[in-house]
Amino acid sequence: MSVIQARELSFAYPRRAGTEPFELRLAVWSVERGERTALHGPSGCGKSTLLNLLAGVLTASSGMLKVQGQELSDLSEPQRRAWRIKNLGFVFQDFPLVDYLDAQENVLLPYRLNSALTLDGDTRRRASDLLDRLGLGGKLARRPEELSQGERQRVAIARALVTEPGLLLADEPTAGLDPARSAQVMELLEGLCEERGLTLLLVTHDPGLLARFSRTLSVGELSAGGPA
Ligand code: ADP
Repeated sequence: MSVIQARELSFAYPRRAGTEPFELRLAVWSVERGERTALHGPSGCGKSTLLNLLAGVLTASSGMLKVQGQELSDLSEPQRRAWRIKNLGFVFQDFPLVDYLDAQENVLLPYRLNSALTLDGDTRRRASDLLDRLGLGGKLARRPEELSQGERQRVAIARALVTEPGLLLADEPTAGLDPARSAQVMELLEGLCEERGLTLLLVTHDPGLLARFSRTLSVGELSAGGPA
């Protein structure tokens, strides 16, 4: 099954005086379950816009966009929010953690925010297993202020994965991590793609990371109707 299907999709930000209008157009694009795609392209080419469209944060002006079989324009805003928490994992560049919760509770935050998700023993085990696989097994009880920047970043990655989303959208998730930690994050993500068909769409400029992807895509090419 295609996890992402887009056809004749277009999106434009509202015009503002004194700024260049920006429009993203996708003729045909699809991504299959378990695929790992790296998005790249110069700053301002539309990578974040595309991630926000896929997450239903922005809505397309016209065309078709199905994510995990759901046409996003059929959902109201509250429905999109509930759908997003249940189906998607996100890692954005700023990854706010709640400062009075420890690492494990920060990972479990989606379960506090959405009553449709059930927090049980399996969920707690999954949270600690993810933290363990990210090298934070000994730091579950630490609050964000007791963690380094790179450790907080990895807590945010575990949080994006704890609901077992079918699709992970990540904007430079390893930026600022040292090469060994960056490789550890990629090994976890690649493992989840193989183990349970996680589909990964990740923005990166790091040539070392690009080499790890089966498919790399420049948003400019995509927008111009390039390789689909
Ligand atoms: P990237 O992530 O590739 O750096 P973005 O998707 O953030 O690019 O931005 C694409 C273009 O859209 C840029 O020209 C940017 O200035 C413009 N843009 C981004 N957000 C807005 C907004 N809220 N309103 C108007 N234009 C925006």
